[in-house]
Amino acid sequence: MSDCLFCKILAGEVPSDVVYEDEHVLAFKDIYPQAPFHVLIIPKKHISTLNDLDVNDNELAGRLFTTAKIIAQEQGFADDGYRVQMNCGEGGGQIIFHMHLHLLAGKKFSA
Ligand code: 5GP
Ligand code: ZN
Repeated sequence: MSDCLFCKILAGEVPSDVVYEDEHVLAFKDIYPQAPFHVLIIPKKHISTLNDLDVNDNELAGRLFTTAKIIAQEQGFADDGYRVQMNCGEGGGQIIFHMHLHLLAGKKFSA
């Protein structure tokens, strides 16, 4: 996806502050953090929104969550707790149309 910002980050064409990478996912710091620690976890495969997620991508989708857990543990947030969030579509607040999970930590969130 040549016009996708996160695909450009994956290709190294746009710089990012990477905190985790494996064969399937990349995680990097959000440029406008909404919490003391805020990273975006993206699949290396371009999937625009949750609406485009196929049942064949179930393992990949699960990896987004296990990656959130791994990063939270590595960064020392697992015990205090943290928030994961995914926005779907314009109405859901999505502005970058490459599916991603937000991991927010380092403060107490309200319900
Ligand atoms: P969305 O609203 O689509 O769920 O979240 C997109 C996120 O991407 C926002 O939190 C925004 O701050 C972040 N973002 C937008 N442009 C860039 C960028 O160029 N680099 C990084 N690291 N994050 C970005
Ligand atoms: Zn993309």
